[in-house]
Amino acid sequence: MNKTVFLIIDGMADLPIKTLNNKTPLEYAYKPNLSSFLKHSVLAYPSVLGKLAPQSDSGVMADLGYDPIKYSTGRGWFECLGLGMEPRSGDLSLRVNFGRVDNGLLKEVRVYMSKPELHQLEAEINEKVKLEVPFEFKSGEGYRGGLILRSKNKPFSPFVSNNELGYTAKFYPHGKKLSFATDVKSKRVKKIKAERAEAAYTAGILNEFVEKSSDVIKRSSVYKDRKKEGLEVPNYLFLRDGAAADPELPDINDKYGRRWAAVVGMPLERGIAKAAGMSVIQGVHEEQDLNIDFSNKAEATTAALRKFDAVYLHIKQTDAVSHLGKYTEKYMILEKIDKIVIKRLSSALNQSNGDSLIITCDHATSSILRRHINSNIPVLISNDKFKASKEFSESSCRSNHINQIKKATDIMPFAMKL
Ligand SMILES: [Zn+2]
Repeated sequence: MNKTVFLIIDGMADLPIKTLNNKTPLEYAYKPNLSSFLKHSVLAYPSVLGKLAPQSDSGVMADLGYDPIKYSTGRGWFECLGLGMEPRSGDLSLRVNFGRVDNGLLKEVRVYMSKPELHQLEAEINEKVKLEVPFEFKSGEGYRGGLILRSKNKPFSPFVSNNELGYTAKFYPHGKKLSFATDVKSKRVKKIKAERAEAAYTAGILNEFVEKSSDVIKRSSVYKDRKKEGLEVPNYLFLRDGAAADPELPDINDKYGRRWAAVVGMPLERGIAKAAGMSVIQGVHEEQDLNIDFSNKAEATTAALRKFDAVYLHIKQTDAVSHLGKYTEKYMILEKIDKIVIKRLSSALNQSNGDSLIITCDHATSSILRRHINSNIPVLISNDKFKASKEFSESSCRSNHINQIKKATDIMPFAMKL
């Protein structure tokens, strides 16, 4: 069977930037290794969620062919699954950030800490916080974590607000939910609210957890040591996107009749891949040094192609630099992806024998606005069935798009027929 690589470059799409000659970082980047894939390709420019600016969870789901509004029960499910926890229906699985709140006002949404510090706080929270239900808290990378409240006598409700400002939960029929970035008008941190009467019990336990874990953090040696050293101290946990049901994604291997593997380093993307039934390749981590990160991922993808028919490869850093406003770094990272990843894929894939490469992103991230935007996403699908495309950029995809791909969820059904 021919092979497929589906490369999702997080937040790759952007807006034109004055100092880049009014080009986007993708347009501006020198990408010589992409030319062999452009020789036989089609372009598309689909919308992800219409007028709403997607978060990564909904963007990745849509790219992989799962309509987020039909399937998402809350990002927390994937975050916990990706951290190696076991979310279950009836329990509540949430994404957690270590942050800081002073006098009820938000000071810091993300307090970065080392692995040993995170492990220490994780152990203390699990040991010292007492609730009427069992729970598991697990730390992730930097400032992140996952929380699962295990239901005892009654199932938890997903109809609760987030206490992290700037992320508003939106509810859809059949218990589906997604959250979207919204403007922060007031810095006052609010308690978690029951959005429906049935969620009062759930909101109450979550607020109790926030209060008790905050006390544990403030009494910890991590807090005291960091304060002594003049480092930013965490004193609050932000909880969001609680999921109380399995999103029940149809198995991707059955859906398309191909065996899928995933080369992903972040918990969210790992969780989505697992939930879709992909084999997640072990030993893939996010590395600080991008040369190492990209080489490792390119090698892992090449190795996975020997055993699997299709590989989902995710690269995170383009989104991270966009949130920091570093558009120069963004185009340089895209050049590095071309130099290391695309080059490796051009020898790993047999382009004259039906193998395909798909390149797109989960959402556009504006490095001027420093946030996700609702722009359509550029898509390149390379296969020897197609004629040549000149260039891969937002504008070339907008003016040369194929009609079969109008929404991001159309990408997979189209590509899997090749
Ligand atoms: Zn993203």
